[in-house]
Amino acid sequence: MIVMKFGGSSVESQQAVERVAGIVKSYIERKPIVVVSAMGKTTNKLLQVAHEAAAGRRDQALALVDELRSYHLQHGLALAGAHAAELDRYIRAHFEWLDELVKGLSVVGELSARSMDAIASVGERLSSLVVSFAFRASGFKSQHVDSRSVILTDAQFTHAQPLLEETYAALKEKVQPLAENAVVVMGGFIASTKDGHTTTLGRGGSDYSAAIVGAGVNAEEIQIWTDVDGMLTADPRIVSGGHRVKSLSFAEAAEMAYFGAKVLHPATVLPAVDKNIPVMILNSRRPEVAGTRISLTSVPSRNPVKSISCKNDITILNIRSTRMLMASGFMVRIFEVFNRHRTSVDMVSTSEVSVSLTVDNVENLDAICAELREFSEVTLEQGQAIVCLVGENIRHTPGIAGRAFQVLSGTNIRMISQGASVLNLGFVITGSELAPVVAALHKEFFAELDPNVFD
Ligand code: ASP
Ligand code: MG
Repeated sequence: MIVMKFGGSSVESQQAVERVAGIVKSYIERKPIVVVSAMGKTTNKLLQVAHEAAAGRRDQALALVDELRSYHLQHGLALAGAHAAELDRYIRAHFEWLDELVKGLSVVGELSARSMDAIASVGERLSSLVVSFAFRASGFKSQHVDSRSVILTDAQFTHAQPLLEETYAALKEKVQPLAENAVVVMGGFIASTKDGHTTTLGRGGSDYSAAIVGAGVNAEEIQIWTDVDGMLTADPRIVSGGHRVKSLSFAEAAEMAYFGAKVLHPATVLPAVDKNIPVMILNSRRPEVAGTRISLTSVPSRNPVKSISCKNDITILNIRSTRMLMASGFMVRIFEVFNRHRTSVDMVSTSEVSVSLTVDNVENLDAICAELREFSEVTLEQGQAIVCLVGENIRHTPGIAGRAFQVLSGTNIRMISQGASVLNLGFVITGSELAPVVAALHKEFFAELDPNVFD
């Protein structure tokens, strides 16, 4: 049994879903369970609907609902073949329900997290139906399962946490037997509390759903189908000419994702890590490409660096306290402030007289600085970038830092960090230097490629 997850762009149109049906068919012997995102940009639009309605702009909200209705009918019905009339009824019923909800919200003029989830869930409820009908029309048995009947969460609407024990039991009992005889299709992202209120796992949550489903049925593999060939040696938005990394450890993938490779968020695959299930990143537009395999152990590589990841637009905070310096509790106080404001820190380095750290979320920065200034001096440097060399072999290979610094000899390095796990070597530089720096490092570390690991 395998889990195949297709993201929004992989199911955005009739043509895209037909492509998905072809891919799933080619894996049919491995008993796929398919997890899908909402079609295209549907989730964004649904959230817009919710906000328009809550702001009392009823007509604008209803017009957006109309757009979504036409979009789903147009692509859905073209895919459903002989079952078009049945799908038509399902789609219309969902939108009638949404129309009513929107009217209600625009009268009340307020939006709870719970109503937001109810609205946002429509995307995956519909995409999973459409895809399941499309599979049947293309000639294989398919069974739709409403994810809300098996994936159970707490009641933190918009970012609910799964109750794994109950969820795994439900998946084993309800989904696994169905998947023996038909391709099960489920919506990602959506779930439910034990008392039946619809929840969502947070934006981008379909990957998480796929990992949960995979762990619940003990899948032999979880495939994340996207629109890129896999993880690359460099972020294609910054530097072109990156190579596909064929294999990574979970730890390496996590380091890459923390620092901006937007392909997969590390937390989403934790259920897979726990059960030692490999995760594949594959391209639904080029299914012949072998993608990236992420598993517990890493394939030995002659290149010590597997990838250069980076993150732009970060801010450095320099925190200095002559009074409390080196006094125990100073670090605790600093991190308490960040924790209270739900702002995560990416990189930290300390010296005799100060602590420097970086954040990319500046939403609460004013409040954070105000609190820090109660016991320290704080200065900010905006417009910075983190560059990170990632690879399990960095720790076994002497001279990596030396080579990197050689390349960066003309660059002003603002901070340096190498964690004790030595999986990564990170620098902070001025944002405007990011592209040339990554290009130069890429040239240094990927001039020759180990064919077992890179394409
Ligand atoms: N449709 C949801 C979102 O756009 C979940 C996902 O696509 O993973 O955030
Ligand atoms: Mg995604």
